[in-house]
Amino acid sequence: MKRRSVLAAGAAGATLATVAPPALAAGASPLTGPSSPGGGPGVPQVRLLPSRFLDNMNRTVAYLRFVDLDRMLHMFRVTAGLPSAAEPLGGWEAPTVQLRGHTTGHLLSGLAQAAYHLDDRDLKARSAALVDGLKACQAPNGYLSAFPETIFDQLEAGKNPWAPYYTIHKIFAGLLDQHRLLGNTTALDVARRMADWVGSRVSKLTREQMQKVLHVEFGGMNESFVNLYRVTGEAAHLELARAFDHDEIFVPLSEKRDTLAGRHANTDIPKVVGAAAMYQATGSDYHRTIATYFWDQVVRHHSYVIGGNSNAEFFGPPGQVVSQLGENTCENCNTYNMLKLTERLYAIDPSRTDYLDYHEWALINQMLGEQDPDSAHGNVTYYTGLSSTASRKGKEGLVSDPGSYSSDYGNFSCDHGSGLETHTKFAEPIYDTSRDTLSVKLFIPSETTFRGAKIQINTMFPYRETVRLRVDGTGAPFTLRVRIPSWVRDPALRVNGKPVPAHPGRFATIRRVWRRGDVVTLHLPFRTRWLPAPDNPAVHALTYGPLVLAGRYGAQGPATLPTADPRTLRREAGAAEFSVVVGGQRVRLSPFLDVHHEHYNVYFALPPARPRHGTVASYPLTGLREARRRWPDAVLAGGAVPGERGIELNGTGAHVVLPAGLPASLSKLTVSVWVRLDSIANSARVFDLGFNTQSYMFLTPRTGLNRARFAMKLGGMEAEDFVDAAVALPVGVWTHVEIRVAETLTFLINGEVSGVNESPKMGALLLGATQFNYLGRSQNVKHPFLHGAVADFTLSAPK
Ligand SMILES: [Zn+2]
Repeated sequence: MKRRSVLAAGAAGATLATVAPPALAAGASPLTGPSSPGGGPGVPQVRLLPSRFLDNMNRTVAYLRFVDLDRMLHMFRVTAGLPSAAEPLGGWEAPTVQLRGHTTGHLLSGLAQAAYHLDDRDLKARSAALVDGLKACQAPNGYLSAFPETIFDQLEAGKNPWAPYYTIHKIFAGLLDQHRLLGNTTALDVARRMADWVGSRVSKLTREQMQKVLHVEFGGMNESFVNLYRVTGEAAHLELARAFDHDEIFVPLSEKRDTLAGRHANTDIPKVVGAAAMYQATGSDYHRTIATYFWDQVVRHHSYVIGGNSNAEFFGPPGQVVSQLGENTCENCNTYNMLKLTERLYAIDPSRTDYLDYHEWALINQMLGEQDPDSAHGNVTYYTGLSSTASRKGKEGLVSDPGSYSSDYGNFSCDHGSGLETHTKFAEPIYDTSRDTLSVKLFIPSETTFRGAKIQINTMFPYRETVRLRVDGTGAPFTLRVRIPSWVRDPALRVNGKPVPAHPGRFATIRRVWRRGDVVTLHLPFRTRWLPAPDNPAVHALTYGPLVLAGRYGAQGPATLPTADPRTLRREAGAAEFSVVVGGQRVRLSPFLDVHHEHYNVYFALPPARPRHGTVASYPLTGLREARRRWPDAVLAGGAVPGERGIELNGTGAHVVLPAGLPASLSKLTVSVWVRLDSIANSARVFDLGFNTQSYMFLTPRTGLNRARFAMKLGGMEAEDFVDAAVALPVGVWTHVEIRVAETLTFLINGEVSGVNESPKMGALLLGATQFNYLGRSQNVKHPFLHGAVADFTLSAPK
């Protein structure tokens, strides 16, 4: 009993680091960080001051005050057999949609955060009413959901219902937030009974059966069970957290293997948040490796410039960014969950200030901008699309319509739900406190108290370069730590005008006796930087200090990434406004978070500083053994063999693999190749240089139109650029094909022009450092291999 109450007190405050749970083995590393950082009774309240952050929060809070709780409880009551006359909800909360109930879980969390941070009586009352409403719907066995328990029978029978544990997790997490932040013990009781119910289901299953259950998205069930354990101290709750360890993703991550390509991002991220929580509770190195390695891979190798990840909700291979553009990039839930992971990892290792850099960057450049600043209720988009065709639209759209904003009741989605939490949480990650140290982690205008002193962050950051901290001290000493972002050069920190050392990527430390009116100013000089994409050195995003800038395109975006002239970049009136000449026209650039109700573009091609000319790559492919040293990087695969004149390809798997990166940074490109077909198949490839089935350039000997075709495309384009020859390539003879990619696309057969496309939308520059370069093989595994032979494959860059 005593231990439980100690744990409960610890978990409710931010001082859990000092509380050892019973499961921590002797000698295990000390616990670090709170179970859920930044809040809870007993922790000084953080009040947001006027800023873009507060504006966003206010809009979401307006929704929290507005939303009809009876409607949010309707299907819970129906499921429990209780009367309900409320109007059913729409979107993924509709009575026929299996995900129904998840938003009510997010609402519990959003209400808890807003009520706590605003210390708001009305929001507390609404919180309590919602918890009581849910308690009334809980079945005697502890089951609480807006859909019947039979869905779990289906799940355990190996069927594929839509994410029932995902929804359970949202409710479970929301109840725990109600307890953690508002001290609502009813919420804790309901959560404990839910845990008992989960235990009753899980205990019937073998470990193998449970691993099958885990194939269906289950949110962060493991994280919530760790959180519950940290309140109750009951080993059974920790065991239930372990039951949700998903081997299929955890094992490779624990071995530092990146197997994320092709995995649904927002299914996996919350599992890893749970792994971080498990490390915090138990000191398990297995879980720590999973969490840290995953974060490093996702942030460094799977993320776009705004800090988001995923294309059409899935991870791609590491390093694919510009080759993975689309209107459905960066599902906003993913970043909501990545920030949960980031907070935990920073708590685990506070020496890693890159966690804070990421946190700030993703908040500014993705999360603030997911919300429509013109909506009274904080409507959000589902994705943040990053292709040139992407937009944030003003109309109320469907869940499936990328870029459209959510609405009050019509189109509930996971992102409408996570948005309720994101925009009520800004007060949490700003400060850290330890015994005599206050750390300022993020520059969000706010006010708090520490050791009797009042601390205010006043700034127009991220729009302005100066952050001003006012400390109204009482004459007592303490240490103030101020984070210096890693992107800054020459920061200047002053205390009452006197310089203090400050280094990018570190905390500056100021220990002194603080008196009323002490002022710390941090100057963070902003400069513009064109950041290259990892998969295409010619494509860049423009940043200014902490801001990603976007070209504003009004009603219609460009067909594909446009080419900007960086020499024409100039300041415009406004805090962070610029313009640049793109394709002959001056385009306005604004902070991306502020571009709404219109089309935009974030990535631009820049002309190469030193254009390459002449032969870029040459593969004669004859006398391969003798001449190995001349092309040591062409690999014969799948049964390809050197022949008299070139490489013989059997049509059943033989192909040549060329090195990655071949056509990078070329404004114009000529490809030439000799090919002899032994038989012809539609969609076979003479060559295919690309990244995936969205970003490529290829030559096929015949399409359904009975012509040879060269085509190229960058992910996010509506259609590929192509040029057809007048005929299909002939069978049985060696044929020379030359493709010229410049202002036009030209197809030559044996030196004669056979087809021209006068107005292609993209150029060679956009394709970049192609990762998978083949002769005789397609990016698309469904396409046939080439049957014949290839020789003299050459890439050259004409003047
Ligand atoms: Zn989502």
